[in-house]
Amino acid sequence: MAKHHQIQSVSGILTPIPEGWESSDLEGMLISESKLQSRVKVLASEIANQLPSNEPVVVLPLLSGAFLFAADLVRQWQFEFELDFIGLSSYRTSTRSGPIEWIHRVKADIENKHVVIIDDILDTGQTLVEATKELSKLHPATIQTCVLLEKDVKNPRPLSCHANFVGFKIPDIFVVGYGLDFALKFRQLPFVGVISPNCYGTGTH
Ligand code: 5GP
Ligand code: MG
Repeated sequence: MAKHHQIQSVSGILTPIPEGWESSDLEGMLISESKLQSRVKVLASEIANQLPSNEPVVVLPLLSGAFLFAADLVRQWQFEFELDFIGLSSYRTSTRSGPIEWIHRVKADIENKHVVIIDDILDTGQTLVEATKELSKLHPATIQTCVLLEKDVKNPRPLSCHANFVGFKIPDIFVVGYGLDFALKFRQLPFVGVISPNCYGTGTH
C-alpha cells in the first residue's frame, strides 16, 4: 500500500512509455534512452579521468542488474583494463531488500590494481558496502564505485554507503529497465521505467 502511494506521488514526473514498449505492467518512463546514453558517456569520461594512466585497472560489474549499464560504460573506454564480474544477491522478495550473499566471487587478481565496481542502483547501500569490504581484503590499490542510479532515501546513508560516481539521483521508488528487473523481467528495456502498482506482490527475486 505504501509503495502504491509512492507511485502515485511520482506519476507527475513520469513520461509515456515509448512506442512499442507499452505494457499494462508499466506505469511510465522515468529516464529515457537518450538521457541514459548521454549521461553514460559523461560518466565514462569522469571515471576515466580519475584513473591513473598506465596503471592496472580491473572493472567489476555486479551481476545481474548492472549488465547493460556496464556494457555501455566500458565500450567508451579505449584504455586497457581487465573485466571480471562479481555477484551479490540480496534475497529480495518483491521490491524489498533482505540479507545478502555472494553468488559469484571475483576471479581476477586485484592486488595493487585500481578497482572500479559498477552497480545498477544504490538503495540501502548494503550491496556496495559488502562488495567494497570483501574486495578490500584482496589489497587492491584503490576501489572506486559507480552506480547508475542512487535512490533518494529518507534516512541518510552512512558515508561508507556512498558511490564515487552516480549517474542519476531518483526518488525512492522501485524502478525497472536498463538491466534492472522485477521478478527477472523488464531487464531489456532501453529506458528506466516504473511498474504499475498492480504488479506489486506478484513477483519474487
Ligand atoms: P542495496 O543493497 O543498495 O539495498 O540494493 C542494491 C540492489 O538491490 C541493487 O543492486 C538492485 O539489484 C536491487 N534494487 C534496489 N532498488 C531497486 C529498484 O528500484 N529496482 C530494482 N529492479 N532493483 C533494485
Ligand atoms: Mg543488483
